[in-house]
Amino acid sequence: MVLGQPFVGPHHAPSNTAPQFRCHRCLRPYRYKNTLRRHLNLECGKVPQFQCPVCPHRTAQHSNLMRHLRTNHADRLPVDTGTGHSFG
Ligand SMILES: [Zn+2]
Ligand SMILES: [Zn+2]
Repeated sequence: MVLGQPFVGPHHAPSNTAPQFRCHRCLRPYRYKNTLRRHLNLECGKVPQFQCPVCPHRTAQHSNLMRHLRTNHADRLPVDTGTGHSFG
């Protein structure tokens, strides 16, 4: 289970503390500004539209759902028939 990232102890804090960008809506911390921008554009405040076909998990990004499937349901993935059909 990968939820969040382990935090380095204060005794080993570097001198240049990296600026953390925090979403003003949901207060999620982001290390990079464009990551926060992507979050704001694609995730924050949006209804998660991609429903996991195996469990009740939902996500706002298709790539996240694919990663979720590979991580949690690798043994349940449907066989890829190689039709080349892809979602826009
Ligand atoms: Zn947010
Ligand atoms: Zn699932």
